[in-house]
Amino acid sequence: MMLKRALAAALGWIALAGMQAPSFSTTVPPLMEMWRLDCGNFTFTDHNAFFSDTSEYQAGPKDLVGSCYVIRHGTDYMLWDTGIPAGVVQQPIQTPAIRATLRATIVDQLARINVRPEQVTIVGISHYHFDHTGQAASFPHARLLMGAGDIAALRGNDPGVERAPLAHWLTGGGQVVEARGDHDVYGDGKVVMLNLPGHTPGHRALLVRLASGPVLLSGDMYHFTEQVQRRGVPPFNTSRAETLASMDRFDRLGRNLRATVIIQHEPADVARLPAFPQSAR
Ligand SMILES: [Zn+2]
Repeated sequence: MMLKRALAAALGWIALAGMQAPSFSTTVPPLMEMWRLDCGNFTFTDHNAFFSDTSEYQAGPKDLVGSCYVIRHGTDYMLWDTGIPAGVVQQPIQTPAIRATLRATIVDQLARINVRPEQVTIVGISHYHFDHTGQAASFPHARLLMGAGDIAALRGNDPGVERAPLAHWLTGGGQVVEARGDHDVYGDGKVVMLNLPGHTPGHRALLVRLASGPVLLSGDMYHFTEQVQRRGVPPFNTSRAETLASMDRFDRLGRNLRATVIIQHEPADVARLPAFPQSAR
């Protein structure tokens, strides 16, 4: 009652004074925003031998990038892929097949847009390869979201699957969400993990519906543009047949949604998104 009377008095006073009631419509940030993070640089000694089991490419070296993404959905932050290990900043990786370098950690890049690690509530990972899981441990508060097939492989005993970067979750230290089929992360269709197996058993790509249009983040569905036409299947993929079927689905979906398709390792594609710290909206 008191409140009602006070409100009436205030409105009366505003009317008497000939003033307009104050407007509270300050600029509301958009629901969705996405930043592309630098998650590594790679030089492959022979990309034909590395990336095709049918010798689809010219023999020789190729430079690729690693990219990760931070997606803001309302007040929530989700990471998509976590790049190569943070230690690579100090110590590049050098093998006969690959050289890998990293300019800055994800945590350092997030600091530039005032996002603290504990604000990241979901770490979504396309698949279990080391250049996608490397910095997950910097976000121990987050739920780990991966395809069920990859979680099963991580919990199995194949010596070729690297478990250390995700040990925190695999040993019960953090919550694991296993995606089965496509997985609508927020339940509103804005961020959907797409079931595209073959590179690994539970491999996923990510559909992000921004106000400016849908974006498809490839995971490792493809590694570079030439692969889309040539249908090169890397010899280390877990299923050749699933890879080809997933390529078909990914291409059709990208076309039919008129999505901006980003092959995460392709330097020309990541350059199509705003340069960090600018965001896509
Ligand atoms: Zn991979």
